[in-house]
Amino acid sequence: MEQNYLTGLNEPQYQAVTTTQGPLMVLAGAGSGKTRVLTMRIAHLITQGISPFHILALTFTNKAAREMKDRIARVVGESDAKSLWMGTFHSVFARILRSEAHYIGFPSNFTIYDTQDSLNVLKKVVKELSLDTDIYKPKKVMARISAYKNNLITVRSYQQNPELIEADERANMKHMGQIYQRYVEQCFKNGAMDFDDLLLRTNEILTRFPEVLAKYQDRFRYILVDEYQDTNHSQYLIVKALASKFENICVVGDDAQSIYSFRGANIYNILNFKKDYPDAVTVSLEQNYRSTQNIVDAANDVIARNTQQFKKNVFSDNEIGEKIKVYRALSDADEAGFVASNIWELHHTKQHRFKDFAILYRTNSQTRAFEDALRKKNIPYRVYGGLSFYQRKEVKDLLAYLRLLVNPNDNEALLRIVNYPARGIGETTLNKLIVASDKENIPLSSLLSSIGFYGKQIGLNSGTVAKLGDFWSLISAFQVLLKEADVYQVAMEVAQRSGLIKFLKDDQTPEGISRVENVQELLNSMRGFIEEQQQLEDGDPSLSNFLGSIALTTDQDQNKDPNADQVSLMTIHLSKGLEFPVVHLVGLEENLFPSFMSSSTREELEEERRLFYVALTRAEKQAFFSYAISRFQWGKITDAEPSRFLSEVRSDFIELLNPARESRFVNHSGLSSSLFDDTSPSVRKFEKKPPKKTLPSSMGSLEPKSKNLKPVATARIINPSGASSENIEVGD
Ligand code: ATP
Ligand code: MG
Repeated sequence: MEQNYLTGLNEPQYQAVTTTQGPLMVLAGAGSGKTRVLTMRIAHLITQGISPFHILALTFTNKAAREMKDRIARVVGESDAKSLWMGTFHSVFARILRSEAHYIGFPSNFTIYDTQDSLNVLKKVVKELSLDTDIYKPKKVMARISAYKNNLITVRSYQQNPELIEADERANMKHMGQIYQRYVEQCFKNGAMDFDDLLLRTNEILTRFPEVLAKYQDRFRYILVDEYQDTNHSQYLIVKALASKFENICVVGDDAQSIYSFRGANIYNILNFKKDYPDAVTVSLEQNYRSTQNIVDAANDVIARNTQQFKKNVFSDNEIGEKIKVYRALSDADEAGFVASNIWELHHTKQHRFKDFAILYRTNSQTRAFEDALRKKNIPYRVYGGLSFYQRKEVKDLLAYLRLLVNPNDNEALLRIVNYPARGIGETTLNKLIVASDKENIPLSSLLSSIGFYGKQIGLNSGTVAKLGDFWSLISAFQVLLKEADVYQVAMEVAQRSGLIKFLKDDQTPEGISRVENVQELLNSMRGFIEEQQQLEDGDPSLSNFLGSIALTTDQDQNKDPNADQVSLMTIHLSKGLEFPVVHLVGLEENLFPSFMSSSTREELEEERRLFYVALTRAEKQAFFSYAISRFQWGKITDAEPSRFLSEVRSDFIELLNPARESRFVNHSGLSSSLFDDTSPSVRKFEKKPPKKTLPSSMGSLEPKSKNLKPVATARIINPSGASSENIEVGD
């Protein structure tokens, strides 16, 4: 065990780690050791005799929590580190809700709906209400509901306080209130919570039931939050409530890295901290330990252009380092080819391992070209942020069976598998069942368990009644098994007796075979889960706990072998908090980065600039920028202009790799986009068309910013003092 964990800290870091009592905020730039401080502070608390039982640490990803735990274990030992409560807001409060959800009428084994489940429910609601699906697009509706929930606008407050909602939205989406209400009712009926509910419902319980609040206040005497700048209002309130007894709260963050405002992240949380805890100690860390001087200076230079920020000094004492190299590509394929060759070369000439490299981009749709280029060179890579393993169809199918066993009210699960594999139960039958369930206010599962009785009433023929009866007998048999067998045995039995495995095995194409393998993998993961839980002091190997834990698993959490030597590909959003020796920041083009969705207002542009700052500050030794002058997008070749961010980096920090083709080279003072102006013939041959400001269908995953929540109203809810974005103190 490490005895001298404090010696590796500089003075302000030491202060932040050892000031254990009372509120403390560390507001500091990228790479200055905020996460390290948080980690060491936890180790220090335990070393000082605080029981890990009383410590709660909230991190941005579960993976970050695991890494911090490992680090803490090296100081305080495995067993203390193990019993710490650490994880994302969602995973920690999902766990608490399992014990407390009964206060608000939810079963303890409530289902957690992922995005797809929520969308399915919303689609049905919009259909039932016979609304125009062009106006009430499920994804748009879901984004609105999410924004309401994260601002604690419940159905009731939506109805009672129409001024909370922007006039535009009230006028154009008149039925949002109805949809919201139906959606919440459906989830409640199904015994299900969506991701935002995990926070909203926690808030509800903590507010309505003082005894529950008191219990957790007493338990979590020391609360620590990483990446505080990206917490939303709902998260802010939970932390505030829990910390209000002991006030041993430590938050660390960097306003310059606030990049999730489209999900409701809220800069006011940092401002509020000082208001909520006037005696809070504020520590600033100025030394960046991660990056070379060139990288730090360039990043500072760019972010200084933002008007909304706390002024910070960040410097690096590391080597000056190489300049940032800029590559101008002719096309997206050319850009990807450059990146792959460059990685290959550095791997061989500078002994970099593949895992030292990251390729960061603004949107997921940019990945493919890089994957092709890396494959051509046999460079191992991993794309982060894809579908989580647990979201693959075959895996979700088997999970739906299991969900139904645990929570028979989970209609989404039931409808997914009642006729899968095919059992001759058609849509008409299901519609009749759904209508009856609504009319009689009986869960679908209750209808099925007494289908002999209800069948005739609903107008089903005897053949259909028999099929439904058989299905329910199967489910009941599994439920009996669940009482005596472990999760692995139950899942195995379900996979076989439901006919799922046989159905999948009949498909002998490579895709079919890999689906069977995925089911096998799911079964294996259950074995792993049982072993893991058996080792834990308060382990819970139940199926309900298994389902709860995987509902919150993201693709990032599934990094089975963190030491695998692979290049990392991810969006800038996902790269937050991480570091890599060599970073390629790609696609630096206007309308791509800054995104065409986010360049119309100053606020949006400033958030894009913060993203740029996050991206650049991931690099330790070397950063490469690249852009293409033409790009294959949405089915056609479009020409592109270099990103304005390129011209915001002072030329002292930059080296152009292919300057022969550059038109001019302009220094910072005479700054214009002309450094990256393109007047070469290859550009001119494409007709220039300004991109339309609509969301192309192929970019469906890119959600528009949540603009429709009335900003003033939001600010009023979020920041009761009424501070608007204009009075954020610059140069605090
Ligand atoms: P970000 O804002 O990107 O989340 P951060 O402020 O959390 O960054 P860390 O990730 O904690 O910064 O630290 C950045 C790097 O600097 C890490 O590799 C960390 O180990 C190293 N580091 C931090 N403090 C020190 C120190 N006092 N001495 C040596 N290395 C340090
Ligand atoms: Mg960090």
